[in-house]
Formats: sequence, C-alpha cells, structure tokens
Amino acid sequence: SIVVTGATGNLGRHVVEQLLEKVPADQVTAVVRTPEKAADLAARGVRVAIADYDAPETFDGLFAAGDKVLLISGSEVGGARVAQHRTVIEAAKTAGVALLAYTSAPGSLTAALADDHRATEEALLASGVPYVLLRNGWYHENYTENLAPVLEHGAVTHAGGDGRVSSAARADYAAAAVAVLTGEGHENTTYELGGDVAWSFGEYAAELSRQTGREIAENPVSAETLTGILAGAGVPEPFAAILAGVDTSIAKGELVIDSGDLSRLAGRPTTPLADAIAAALKG
Ligand code: NDP
Repeated sequence: SIVVTGATGNLGRHVVEQLLEKVPADQVTAVVRTPEKAADLAARGVRVAIADYDAPETFDGLFAAGDKVLLISGSEVGGARVAQHRTVIEAAKTAGVALLAYTSAPGSLTAALADDHRATEEALLASGVPYVLLRNGWYHENYTENLAPVLEHGAVTHAGGDGRVSSAARADYAAAAVAVLTGEGHENTTYELGGDVAWSFGEYAAELSRQTGREIAENPVSAETLTGILAGAGVPEPFAAILAGVDTSIAKGELVIDSGDLSRLAGRPTTPLADAIAAALKG
C-alpha cells in the first residue's frame, strides 16, 4: 500500500488527489487523526487509518512490510514534532516498510524552523529504513494565502532584503512526492525541491500591483521590526520571531534552490508565482 500521513492537511490532500490519478483507491491509505475530515476520501474507496503522532500505540500494526510511506511533517514547530516523527519512523522500521519519504526543509536553511527537520532526518537515517528526503522549499501559498493584510495596507512588509525565494505551489511538491511513491529507484536519496523561478519581495509587490491594478509597495523592515508587527497583529511572540528568522534566511539566500529536482521529479515546470497570485485574487 501507499500510505500518506497528514492526509487531511493542505499538502496531504494534494498528494492523495494526485495518487488517485495513478493508482487504484484501495492501494492508498490515508492516515488521519480526525476521521470526519476524511469522510470524502473513504467514500472514494481510499483506506482511512486513524492515528495520532502523539499516541505511539495508534501506529501499532498500521504499516505493513513493503508499504511506501509518506510522512508529512507535523505542525507543532519548536521541537515537539521531532518525537512525533520518531514515533512514525519507529513504526515504519518495525513493520519493514519499503520506503519512508519525509517532507523536510531545504538543506541550505539555517532558520530555527529547520531544526526539527534536521533532527528528524538524523533519526530517519539512523533507523536504517530506506528513506527519501523531500526537502521542500517554500510554498507560494505561504504568501498568496495571506494577501488580506497586504491588500489592506497596500504594502508587502518583509525582512528579506533583496533575497530571493524559489517557492512553488503545494501541488508541485505533491507531484514530486507522488513521483517518489509510485516510481522506482529513489531509495536513500535527498531531493532539494524548489520552484524553477526565484523571486524577490520587490518583484512580488510589482506583480501584485500589476494584477490588482493598485499600487502595492514594498516595505522592507528589519527582522526586529517585523517580529513586532507580527506580534502586534496577534501572532504569538515566539512564532513571530521564527517567521522573521525565515526572512533573515531569505536575505542570506537560503531559500534559493537551484537543483532543478522539483520540475525533474514532477515531469513539468513548476507553477509560476503569478499563477498562484491570480488564483488567490480570484478567491
Ligand atoms: P497542514 O497544517 O495543512 O497539515 C499538517 C497535517 O499534519 C494535517 O493533516 C494534520 O492533521 C497533521 N497532523 C498534525 N499534527 C498531527 C498529529 N499529532 N497526529 C497526526 N497528524 C497530525 O500543513 P501543510 O499540509 O500545508 O504542510 C505540510 C507540512 O509542511 C506542515 O505540517 C509543516 O510541517 C510543513 N510546512 C511547510 C511549509 C513550506 O513552505 N514548505 C509551510 C508550512 C508548513 P489535521 O488535518 O487533522 O489537522
């Protein structure tokens, strides 16, 4: 079976959708913690397994020998998810799965957000389970799903300097994951995944201006100022600092990924940022 954890999340839904274009539904298992959210998948013949990263016993017997598993990283940043991921890795090892692919962060990223991913990668490599590291770059949607304050203030506020971001659509990263899960010869490989075109915040503001017909300015600020702005907007302080830290990494060029791995695995060019903006503006 092909098993996808986090299957009811944003990325997981894209992965399951694209898997169903390639393999029969009864060969796909969606691992979810909230079965109600997976009712539509069950109705389409996808096997639904209920398990929580925080409850190791829920993974007992969930995987079978020969399964190909995609572990989609959890959402609790700041260390807690490393133990969660270890739970899944242990269960995969016990079962003797054929492959465990993990959605990680770019190897170049030194921001605090990357620490959980590095620790998980270490645990996965130490486990001896055949692995694939899908080191996903940034999602277009990190920006295009947060357009409301940008449009309200007419400004892209950022601390990324002139740094560029090789972002791609979640659907692009999902296509790479599906290629790995349904293809051959990916064992013990690390892929550095990012969009074909890297953009700067200035270019992002210009594209928003072009598509909205309004003046959307670039508002470059320091990481400290950005932390304050985000905290003022209700983002919890520690997370605001983590987000500002990502912009510091962007300023240093750590989110430029030029390996070409993503379009090569997906078998097509990655989605242009302009397309994601257009889709978001259409609502
Ligand atoms: P989502 O938050 O939409 O999905 C996270 C998934 O993990 C959800 O399905 C969620 O379940 C599941 N999950 C979280 N905690 C647990 C748990 N304790 N037990 C079982 N399942 C759990 O994120 P995305 O799909 O957009 O992204 C996938 C992952 O990629 C994120 O979790 C994060 O680690 C990382 N990420 C990457 C970004 C990037 O730009 N590359 C940006 C943001 C995050 P449920 O559906 O029930 O909530």
